[in-house]
Amino acid sequence: MVVGDVTTGTELLIIGAGPGGYVAAIRAGQLGIDTTLVEKDAYGGTCLNHGCIPSKALISATDVAHDAREAEEMGIHADPAVDLAGMVDWKDDVVDQLTGGVEQLCKANDVNLVEGRAEFADENTVRVAHGGEGQGSESIEFEHAVVATGSRPVEVPNFEFDGEHVISSRDALALDSVPDSLVVVGAGYIGMELATVFAKLGTDVTVVEMLEGILPPYEDDVSKVVRDRAEEIGIDFFFGEAASDWEESGDGITVRTENEDGEVSEFGAEKALVAVGRAPVTDTLNLDAVGLETDEDGFLATDDRARTDVESVFAVGDVAGEPMLAHKGMKEGEVAAEVVAGEPSALDYQSVPAAVFTDPEVGTVGMTEDEAEEAGFSPVVGQMPMQASGRALTLGDTGGFTRVVADDDAGFILGAQVVAPEASELIAEFGLAIEMGATLEDVAATIHTHPTLGETVMEAVENAQGKAIHTLNR
Ligand SMILES: Cc1cc2nc3c(=O)[nH]c(=O)nc-3n(C[C@H](O)[C@H](O)[C@H](O)COP(=O)(O)OP(=O)(O)OC[C@H]3O[C@@H](n4cnc5c(N)ncnc54)[C@H](O)[C@@H]3O)c2cc1C
Repeated sequence: MVVGDVTTGTELLIIGAGPGGYVAAIRAGQLGIDTTLVEKDAYGGTCLNHGCIPSKALISATDVAHDAREAEEMGIHADPAVDLAGMVDWKDDVVDQLTGGVEQLCKANDVNLVEGRAEFADENTVRVAHGGEGQGSESIEFEHAVVATGSRPVEVPNFEFDGEHVISSRDALALDSVPDSLVVVGAGYIGMELATVFAKLGTDVTVVEMLEGILPPYEDDVSKVVRDRAEEIGIDFFFGEAASDWEESGDGITVRTENEDGEVSEFGAEKALVAVGRAPVTDTLNLDAVGLETDEDGFLATDDRARTDVESVFAVGDVAGEPMLAHKGMKEGEVAAEVVAGEPSALDYQSVPAAVFTDPEVGTVGMTEDEAEEAGFSPVVGQMPMQASGRALTLGDTGGFTRVVADDDAGFILGAQVVAPEASELIAEFGLAIEMGATLEDVAATIHTHPTLGETVMEAVENAQGKAIHTLNR
């Protein structure tokens, strides 16, 4: 059907159906708001289609094969064959189930779904160009709008993505054969997660990083556990090296890097995966038309109700700034919808967890010891090494620790850092503790199931109180 130059109206218009946008739409629908959600590509956004879900699906699948190969000590002798195309098909099925679910949930909550690329025409109208030849465009007038257009990978100069020699995380998640060798540019969480996947699939992986370590936002003892394990599974690291250019050579490429002193190094590989960060997608929206400006990095400033400087326009998810994480965007989406409905909702960022799905995983929430000190607390720290956890031993996975940071005076839990199998799950308990204003005493008094990794939460807390049973107290 060709859609002509029609104008429709809606109470709430949402641009982008990633975790920020679709959650805002579903909550708005639940609240009885007349809601229209515009998406140019696929429901679920980066997270469901090219980010969180596909990467975690491939991580789980490669772990099955890798763990089986490494289980000699447990008396298992196996050498599973990996068919990457089959693995990618399975990952695509997982993605399809979730994206289909998002579409159904939107429809079930009476959200009007419009396919096309939206940009602002004036302060209360967007223009939507429908995809495909002759599909035309339409105008939608709105009372409130939510910008939820997400982010795209940052390109390094001289390393434009060509999908063949220089690939993005999105390309890496869709490869149908395992590269023999890979240079990963950037040791942030996306680079490290994918470096781990390919190393476990048998690729010869070299990571080049401009800084002096991996996982820059995390404390040294946290990233060290991940780095040691990454080296054990065969990843080579080169630090203080900035990728400068590349050229084709033989069957692959040569990546050149430069250090601070201008010395050049060369790394040969089949491909280079560039994962140096993500930038907000705000440059394609004609924001001038609605009277909005971004900061110099392209982010939209928002208040604690997810409102931008223009009262009727909200911004959620990656466009609204760090941390660029799906769950942060989802919460902002919920709040934006509730504010439009007149509810007294507000954002509170004191307890936004973050997880890195490396081997082992990293989970953090709230403050580190240094941050707590800077904030004026007298922090007390308690730690439980995984080596002392019965459950970690039964999993054959004893690298890492669970650490809690609390206020020594009042005992309130302020933060936690976990490096462990399932750290992404374990961190949730600390998030709840912070949100509930729980003290060390509250968590220590909570009976934890034995034998579980969750016990390390209780033990770390008891260690902070000087009464841990299964470790020596500090
Ligand atoms: C490899 C990878 C792994 C990741 N892993 C994790 C993880 O484990 N945990 C986590 O929390 N986060 C993870 N992230 C980050 C997460 O994907 C993002 O934080 C999240 O997707 C942001 O949600 P969003 O709704 O802001 O934007 P997006 O998910 O990017 O969605 C934006 C949507 O807007 C649409 N759009 C853009 N412009 C227009 C327009 N003009 N008109 C109509 N539609 C438009 C896009 O097509 C897209 O569908 C990962 C990201 C990557 C790349």
